Amino acid sequence: MKAGIVGLPNVGKSTLFNSLSNAKAQSANFPFCTIEPNIGVVNVPDPRLEMLESLVNPERVVPATVDIVDIAGLVKGASKGEGLGNQFLGNIRETDAILHVLRCFDDDNVVHVDGNIDPIRDKETIDIELQLKDLESVEKKMDKTKRAAKTGNKEAQREFAVLEQLKTGLESGTSVRALTITEEDRTDFVKPMQLITDKPVMYVCNVDEGSAVSGNAHVDRVKEAVKDENAEVLVLAVGIEADIAELDDYEERQLFLEDIGLEEAGAGKLIRSAYRLLNQQTYFTAGKKEVRAWTVRVGATAPQAAGVIHTDFERGFIRAEVIKYDDFVHYGSEAKVRDAGKLNVEGKEYIVKDGDIMNFRFNV
Ligand code: GDP
Repeated sequence: MKAGIVGLPNVGKSTLFNSLSNAKAQSANFPFCTIEPNIGVVNVPDPRLEMLESLVNPERVVPATVDIVDIAGLVKGASKGEGLGNQFLGNIRETDAILHVLRCFDDDNVVHVDGNIDPIRDKETIDIELQLKDLESVEKKMDKTKRAAKTGNKEAQREFAVLEQLKTGLESGTSVRALTITEEDRTDFVKPMQLITDKPVMYVCNVDEGSAVSGNAHVDRVKEAVKDENAEVLVLAVGIEADIAELDDYEERQLFLEDIGLEEAGAGKLIRSAYRLLNQQTYFTAGKKEVRAWTVRVGATAPQAAGVIHTDFERGFIRAEVIKYDDFVHYGSEAKVRDAGKLNVEGKEYIVKDGDIMNFRFNV
């Protein structure tokens, strides 16, 4: 799973990236400071893992992870290849979701590329670049589909009509995810195109420390502006989060957070929202060697879940032994769950639930 951070220069992208990952990106007070796409691997915080660890006492614990890519260099004109932006639009294409950072903090010491603080204008500037890029893809596809449509090919005609809809929408400044298109047309024609503005998006409002809990007027405007987009809006004081992430001591970090009025670090909140955004859930394997969290799509079957571990597991899948997380905690061990008759043997059709503890039987 891969999420890309986008936003105008100097809105706090690399600071956010730093607070999320251990990889240090440079953060300096001028535009274009982060020109390399940086990738960080972020653990998905999950208290259930700690609980399982205390019950199983394994040799190691492996959390689920999300890859975070810091995609810098998006500026006005990026889609036309100005600056370094065009190259980074390619990086966005490879991500599963977009974290769009909006500057919602006032600080005269940090210059804004367009002079003043206006997250709505900033959002539109970025959106337009992404939309223009999608428009290019759509127009290319129209050229290809046109001939087949003219010869009377019904499927091509259907596709052409959808492409026209996309074109009109994008030209009027609407992102693909916000367009009214039937589910069937989306599945058949839109999804396969992997358009940038069709990717799920989360808006990260970067606020000053004092607004970390209740937000501010800038955040209110953002919420109002995106209310029809079906997107998540997250309020984070990125600067202070980065400072907190620097602290080695857990207790110290908690004290720091409490001081600001927060219960947990923003990283946890952000990663959980990203999970929701990507329609992902967690299942566990819990053995003496390793207790591990695995990421699987909501709605995945048992063989598909097995396939996350290894493709052979999916191919040779025979059955899965499944324990509910609550049962595992209640009885305290796999053996006791088994004795209590709470271990379920499931077949190919089983739909995995969040928190399932699974053991796969398979042919090699
Ligand atoms: P990027 O260009 O979007 O990657 O922005 P950076 O993360 O490099 O941040 C640009 C500048 O803004 C740096 O000097 C940061 O220290 C500063 N900055 C980032 N987040 C905050 C914040 O929440 N509050 C304040 N006051 N400054 C911030």
